[in-house]
Amino acid sequence: MSITNVSVIGAGTMGNGIAHVFALAGFKVSLVDVNPSQLQRALDTIHKNLDRQLSKGTITEAQQKSTLANITVYTVMAEGIKAAQLVVEAATEHVDLKLSIFEQMDTYAPAGCILATNTSSISITKIAAVTKRADMVIGMHFMNPVPVMKLIEIINGYSTKKEVTETIIELSKQLGKIPCAVNDYPGFIANRILMPMVNEAIYSLYEGVAGVEEIDTVMKLGMAHPMGPLQLADFIGLDVCLSIMKVLQDGFGNPKYAPCPLLINMVLAGKLGVKSGEGFYTYAAGSKENIVSERFR
Ligand code: NAD
Repeated sequence: MSITNVSVIGAGTMGNGIAHVFALAGFKVSLVDVNPSQLQRALDTIHKNLDRQLSKGTITEAQQKSTLANITVYTVMAEGIKAAQLVVEAATEHVDLKLSIFEQMDTYAPAGCILATNTSSISITKIAAVTKRADMVIGMHFMNPVPVMKLIEIINGYSTKKEVTETIIELSKQLGKIPCAVNDYPGFIANRILMPMVNEAIYSLYEGVAGVEEIDTVMKLGMAHPMGPLQLADFIGLDVCLSIMKVLQDGFGNPKYAPCPLLINMVLAGKLGVKSGEGFYTYAAGSKENIVSERFR
C-alpha cells in the first residue's frame, strides 16, 4: 500500500514530533487538534526543532522549508482526515477519549486507511473493537522526543492483519526509525519492562534502602542507563507512571505490579515531576535538585 498523506490527531508533545518526522520524510501531513492554541504551539515547536537540526547540519534549509510546507493544521477531524491513507492518533492518554476518537476516525477516514495509535498502554485490541476495521488498526508507539529517538514499537492487535504490520514497518524505516514489532498485551514491551523497574526504584526509596541520589547513581553508573529511574519517572510524569502500573496490575492481575504507596501519595499530592515543578527532584530553579531523599533515608 502506498502512503503519501498522513493525518496526526493531537498536537501535544508527541503529536508535534510525529508530524515533524513524517513531514521531514516528505509526507503530506494534516495535524488535527481540538485546541487551536495547541496547533500554533506545535507549529512553533516544529519550527524551533527544525532550527536546531539545521544548526547541527543534519538538515538543509530547503528541507526545513519543505517540512513546514508539508504540514497543514485543522481543528475539525472530519476535514483533517478525509484524504488520509494513515491516521496516527496521539491525543491525551484517556481510554474513553481514545475510544470516541477511534469511532470518529473510522467514520471519517477513507476505506482502506490504516488507523494507528501512539498509546503508551491502552489495549490496541480494545481500541480496534470500536471500529468496523479492526484488521486495519495497529499501535505505533513513538518515543519521546520523537525527532531524536530511533525506536518505534509496533503493536499488533488481536485482529491486525499482516499486510498492515508490514506496511507500518516499511513506513517506519522510511522515517529513518527502527521498528520493533510486538504483540498486544498490557504495557507491550517498553512499559512492561520499564515501569516495574521505575516502581521498584520507588519501593527502594519508600523502604529506606537508599536515597534518591544513590538509587539513580547505582542505575546510571552500574547499569549504564543515561538517566536514573527516579529522574526518568519525573520526566515521564508520576501520574503517567501510576496509570501504566494500574494497567499492568489490572491486565495481569498479579500483585507484583502493585504501584508503590509512595508513588500513589506523590500523585495525590500533585507532585508529578518536571511538569508540576516537583517530583523526586525539584525543578523550580531551572535545574534539578534532590528533595525527597532526606525524608526517606
Ligand atoms: P499531550 O497532553 O501533550 O497532548 C495531547 C493533545 O491531544 C493535546 O494537544 C490535546 O488538545 C489533544 N486532544 C485531546 N482531545 C482531542 C481530540 N478529541 N481530538 C484531537 N486532539 C485532541 O499528550 P502527549 O504526551 O503528546 O501524549 C499523547 C499520546 O502519546 C498518549 O497516548 C501518550 O500515552 C502517548 N505517549 C506519550 C509519550 C510521552 O513521553 N509524552 C511517549 C510515548 C507515547
